[in-house]
Amino acid sequence: MIPIAEAIETVLRQTERLGVESVELSNSVRRILAEDVIADADLPPFDRAQMDGYAVRAADLSNTPAGLRIVGESAAGSGWHHEMKGGEAVRIMTGAPVPAGADAVQQVELTRESDDAQFVEILEPVDAGRSIVRRASEIKMGETVLRAGEDINAAMIATLASFGYAQVKVGRRPRVAIMATGSELVDIDQQPGKDQIRDSNNYTLAAYAKLAGATVERLPLAGDDTEGLKKQIAEAAARSDILVTSGGVSMGVYDFTKAALKELGAEIFFERVALRPGKPTVFARLGNTLVFGLPGNPVSVAVTFNLFARTALRAMQGAKQAELTVETAVLARDLKGSTERESYLPAILCTDEKGTLLAEPLKWGGSSDFVAFAGATALIDVPAGIRMIEAGSLVKTVRLPS
Ligand code: AMP
Ligand code: MG
Repeated sequence: MIPIAEAIETVLRQTERLGVESVELSNSVRRILAEDVIADADLPPFDRAQMDGYAVRAADLSNTPAGLRIVGESAAGSGWHHEMKGGEAVRIMTGAPVPAGADAVQQVELTRESDDAQFVEILEPVDAGRSIVRRASEIKMGETVLRAGEDINAAMIATLASFGYAQVKVGRRPRVAIMATGSELVDIDQQPGKDQIRDSNNYTLAAYAKLAGATVERLPLAGDDTEGLKKQIAEAAARSDILVTSGGVSMGVYDFTKAALKELGAEIFFERVALRPGKPTVFARLGNTLVFGLPGNPVSVAVTFNLFARTALRAMQGAKQAELTVETAVLARDLKGSTERESYLPAILCTDEKGTLLAEPLKWGGSSDFVAFAGATALIDVPAGIRMIEAGSLVKTVRLPS
């Protein structure tokens, strides 16, 4: 049995980056950026008006109201490219270039234009620089604005778009094959017969694998027999970067996943992790394919997938942060740990009225209780060897991908 941290290190050591592909900007959200993004222009590219109003010289406004002669108009997309002199003003719109000679913009609400549109009365003074965003004050041409390895989110799209990244280089999507094992399983559109249950793990795993950026192939349900498992595993491994199985890895008489992997000649890196839930997790390599043999219980599947397989999937795509991000929260209720294993226990994260992040452990019936787990938004990491953590203690948590 190895500690979780060592298991994750092993996963990262065995995981190789996949290639890079270009996608259209509109398809890049939730992919992993595979290139540094460089500004191809200053931002703003010219001195830009921040208000609708008049470009002025601040020094002309020491006595207000002050009358200025309107000599032109600068609109967004169509500037007034002459030198503005003392005693003059240029009508200007938000986003338009500020003419040479002007050093401030007075907002239109503090002005009054004459009926013949020849003059404007500026009602209040402005400080030099007011309502002007100077060229390159935000970003200078050539600066790196986003870095390879970041998760592309919607907030980054304007940056990519503005610097001309119509195509974005991202990590190739890993191909994941997902295979539920267990002779008790029927597909979700079937009515379970005597001693049968519907398979849920294939769907849980497919959902999390997609959230981790993978393309997913769901394989037919596999029964508990070594020969059948070997055949399906070998076929699936041949066409996937990662194979994730569920079930058949504990100590039961019909737990054949490991046997099948071993008979196929897979290299097994670990087969027991000091983790609750999820002790019998297997990690192996078959040819070029990484294999995660996860336990059958639905909550164990969700926990072990996100700790191990998700980390590999993100590392394959070049993610800087491959593992789940840890956040510290205040424990809202007493929580029992385990003496020999580190626990990842389902919880809800919320903030109280003071803004403190609280982790509320879920009331659940163990690793088969997927209905209780449906309410979880996070997992609380309880170190091994701790019998009880009291309410009010600080705990480490990770958010479940959603
Ligand atoms: P196992 O690890 O194969 O011993 O399975 C542990 C428990 O998880 C058993 O109660 C199984 O019936 C259940 N289980 C295994 N596979 C699935 C699945 N694909 N969907 C739902 N439950 C499962
Ligand atoms: Mg089973």
